[in-house]
Amino acid sequence: MEKLPYFTEVHKDVRDIAKKVAEEFSQTASIADEREDYTIIEKNLKRLGEIGILGLRVPTEYGGQGLDMRSYALALEEIAKTCPSTALSYDAHVLAADSIMLAGNDDQKKKYLPMLAKDKIGAFALSEPYAGSDAAALRTVAELKNGRYILRGEKHFITNGKIADVIVVFAKTDPTKGAKGISAFVVEKGSPGLKIGKLESKMGVRGSPTTQIFLDGVEIPKENLLGKENEGFKIAMEALDIGRIAVAAQSLGISKSAFDIAVKYAKERVQFGQPIINFQAIQFMLADMYVKIKASENLTYYAAWLADSGEKVTLQASIAKLFSSEAALEITDKAIQILGGAGYTRDFPVERLHRDAKIMTIGEGTSEIQRLVIARNIITAK
Ligand SMILES: Cc1cc2nc3c(=O)[nH]c(=O)nc-3n(C[C@H](O)[C@H](O)[C@H](O)COP(=O)(O)OP(=O)(O)OC[C@H]3O[C@@H](n4cnc5c(N)ncnc54)[C@H](O)[C@@H]3O)c2cc1C
Repeated sequence: MEKLPYFTEVHKDVRDIAKKVAEEFSQTASIADEREDYTIIEKNLKRLGEIGILGLRVPTEYGGQGLDMRSYALALEEIAKTCPSTALSYDAHVLAADSIMLAGNDDQKKKYLPMLAKDKIGAFALSEPYAGSDAAALRTVAELKNGRYILRGEKHFITNGKIADVIVVFAKTDPTKGAKGISAFVVEKGSPGLKIGKLESKMGVRGSPTTQIFLDGVEIPKENLLGKENEGFKIAMEALDIGRIAVAAQSLGISKSAFDIAVKYAKERVQFGQPIINFQAIQFMLADMYVKIKASENLTYYAAWLADSGEKVTLQASIAKLFSSEAALEITDKAIQILGGAGYTRDFPVERLHRDAKIMTIGEGTSEIQRLVIARNIITAK
């Protein structure tokens, strides 16, 4: 591992383990993409459970590995190098586990975290047809009746919706109060009234199942409320701080993978009697790609290190996500350019990586929303 101030031997071990499993996933990544086969991704998530990656940051007392944010970032980076669909589904799973880690009481942690660290899959259901960037505008409601909450509404674009055992759902408990009227709930698979809608057919991360979720009078025990009533938006935002570092790490993995493929190809491809890597035009593209990778790396690892220091990471997470995701889009585009026509075909994974990179600038807050968060934070700090 390159000398960086953020890592210890433990991190090196995590990277090695993740690298190995990512090699396994590389065998099926293009099939999952072509066939939109989410069963491959479901299998990959279970495999991550077997080797302890699924519950990497879950405390040991709740059946996880008790590791840190840097370990999680490195695991995601390695997995995203070969199969960004698996990385995205793993990230969504962790958003659910994180919400429980952040706000759950001991009983909830004891009930859900061990299974999420082992072989059960999580989903995080915030977005709705009328509430995307403006998440606080969500319309799903939860009403407390005879000691049970009844949830009614519709979620969409929910990663893992189709395969999740445990869904963290955000709903209004006080519709008059905007963001301050939202609560978080744990909804289990098979709850009466819970219906999983259609699978979205997507540009990228096509193996990761993205679905609608209908809550048609879903009745859950009042014990499934996470934290206090009307404090759910705070839980969502705190989970998304971590999630944005996770998106930055996935973007970094995608960028590094595309870069390596481009360098290898440029060394082998001969035109005008010499390898194309001899041409300065190609070298300049590689230099620009490398600079952006180094910048993404430092922003991402720094944000992860900051999270591990117990600091608030909203600003650094947004900076890392904004830069690394936009860099991944540019780097994968340049990789296609370096491969020429071959890069545009499915014979090489760079076109898939480019399609997969695009979601990184949209999910967990678009680039525009990251700029808003960054601006708000730096203006407030002045
Ligand atoms: C593959 C995939 C997986 C996803 N997984 C999940 C998941 O697991 N859980 C979940 O809850 N959600 C998930 N989402 C939803 C995702 O978080 C939203 O798509 C995203 O937040 C953007 O919301 P939107 O699509 O409604 O876009 P909109 O909010 O409608 O935005 C449209 C455009 O307007 C811009 N815009 C909006 N408001 C502003 C503003 N104030 N200033 C400037 N520009 C603005 C946006 O940046 C964007 O360019 C997923 C989406 C996809 C595509």
